[in-house]
Amino acid sequence: MSNYDPNNIFAKILRGELPAHKVYEDDKTFAFLDIMPRASGHTLVIPKIAARTILDVAPDDLGHLFKTTQRIARAAMTVFAADGLTIQQFNEPAGGQVVFHVHIHVIPRKNGVSLKPPASVKEDPAVLSAQALKLAAALKDA
Ligand code: AMP
Repeated sequence: MSNYDPNNIFAKILRGELPAHKVYEDDKTFAFLDIMPRASGHTLVIPKIAARTILDVAPDDLGHLFKTTQRIARAAMTVFAADGLTIQQFNEPAGGQVVFHVHIHVIPRKNGVSLKPPASVKEDPAVLSAQALKLAAALKDA
C-alpha cells in the first residue's frame, strides 16, 4: 500500500522490533493487549499484511480478521467474566484512527461500567502479562 508507513507501531510489533502482550497468532492475524485499555482485557486484532485501513484489506482477509476477532471475543467473555463486548474499528484521523495499521478493538464490558477515555491510563505491564497468559490459555482450548 502506497500510504502504508512500515514504521508504524503495530508494524514494528509484527516484526518483533517492539514488545507486545501477545494473546493469539496464526498465519494471517495477530492479537495483543492494548497497553492503555479502555476496560480490562481490551485486545487489538490485526492482519499481518501491510494495510492502513479497512479499505486496504481484501474481502477474504477481512473475513479471516473477523473470524479471529470472534475467537478473541469468545475467550474474552469467559476470561474477564464479561456481560458484553464493544467491538470498534477506526479509519483515518477523521474516523478516530491513531495507529495506521488496520486494527479491531475487542473490549469486554461489565454492566454499568463505562469505558475509560481512549489512551488515558497506561496499564501495569505485570497486569497485562498475567491477562495475556490467561487469554492465550483460553484461546488454546477454544
Ligand atoms: P486507534 O488507532 O484510535 O484505533 O487506537 C490505537 C490503539 O492502540 C489505542 O487504543 C492505544 O492505546 C493502542 N496502543 C498504542 N500503542 C500501543 C502499543 N505499543 N501496544 C499496544 N497498544 C497500543
